[in-house]
Amino acid sequence: MSNNQAYAQEKQTAIEAVTLAAMLCRQVRADMVGPEALQKGDKSPVTVADFGAQALVCHKLKTVFSNDVIVGEEDSADLRKSENLAILRQITQYVRQFHPAANAETVCEWIDAGNGAVAQRFWTLDPIDGTKGFLRNNQYAIALALIEDGEVRVGALACPALPLDLNQADSPGGVVFVAARGQGAAMASLGGPSNNFQPIRVAAEAAPDALRFVESVEAGHGNHALQEAAARAAGITQPSLRMDSQVKYGVIARGDAALYLRLPSPKSPDYRENIWDHAAGSLIVEEAGGRVSDMRANPLDFASNYKMRHNQGVVVSNGALHTAVIKALAQM
Ligand code: AMP
Ligand code: MG
Repeated sequence: MSNNQAYAQEKQTAIEAVTLAAMLCRQVRADMVGPEALQKGDKSPVTVADFGAQALVCHKLKTVFSNDVIVGEEDSADLRKSENLAILRQITQYVRQFHPAANAETVCEWIDAGNGAVAQRFWTLDPIDGTKGFLRNNQYAIALALIEDGEVRVGALACPALPLDLNQADSPGGVVFVAARGQGAAMASLGGPSNNFQPIRVAAEAAPDALRFVESVEAGHGNHALQEAAARAAGITQPSLRMDSQVKYGVIARGDAALYLRLPSPKSPDYRENIWDHAAGSLIVEEAGGRVSDMRANPLDFASNYKMRHNQGVVVSNGALHTAVIKALAQM
């Protein structure tokens, strides 16, 4: 098998799966009255969307790769409780737009197809990464990756609210990123023709427009002050671009920014990152020519658990900036 054919079916299936899930999420989003109309603490729209998205992705994967293990973020235990029947009914209605024969029981089964554990070969799925962004009508992503022997082999990221071109105000929204190990990274308009993928590259060292960094919107998911200081030390002078979800990886991979910093929050210094929050994005950046590591330059550990127990902090760069940032962090 030539290199270009390796993982061709996995790649195609991953693109189709995250695209379907993105369509469901967009539908749920469109049916919401708007963030201002949401009661504080009411997470039900995101619940409906992420369970629905997980059901669609797992169903798709199991149809094509019936023996594959899936490590997804959600499970149906809560949905099966009587007080959540109305939510389960809503999820089922959305899933039926794609699979008219689905019922509540099949939807729960599909969701639970994603309850596997880390294995020699497995998929990892975040059906909605950036739930807070989804609720704010801002950035979120559907993230899916195939891992073999601890190495990410295929990654697909659907970003329903990301403009194709960040610098053009009227640019159409919705991007899908994809990468397979050794084959480069590419992006296309979400839901567009499958031959429309364009190769992407990280920002060149000297590109002044891209000399900016990205970080989480949520202060509790990082350390904004330390991130700012480390970016300055690496020569970045522009203010950060704050975005939810693995969209940040996509933005680095296509050269809109040169650095993504995610340092441990002082509020949760012992937090360990989940593999589904990084697997797809990290391969897309590496295949676009960038580098990904923890804050001490160790590779991210996708081999042992759904928690990256041996890593703290994540540094994602165009490659050129990486060493300077790691050095600066070691001195902070
Ligand atoms: P982001 O949208 O980049 O802020 O990241 C969203 C992800 O942050 C969620 O999927 C959570 O798994 C993850 N998360 C939750 N708590 C923390 C924390 N204390 N530190 C870092 N990430 C977290
Ligand atoms: Mg997530």
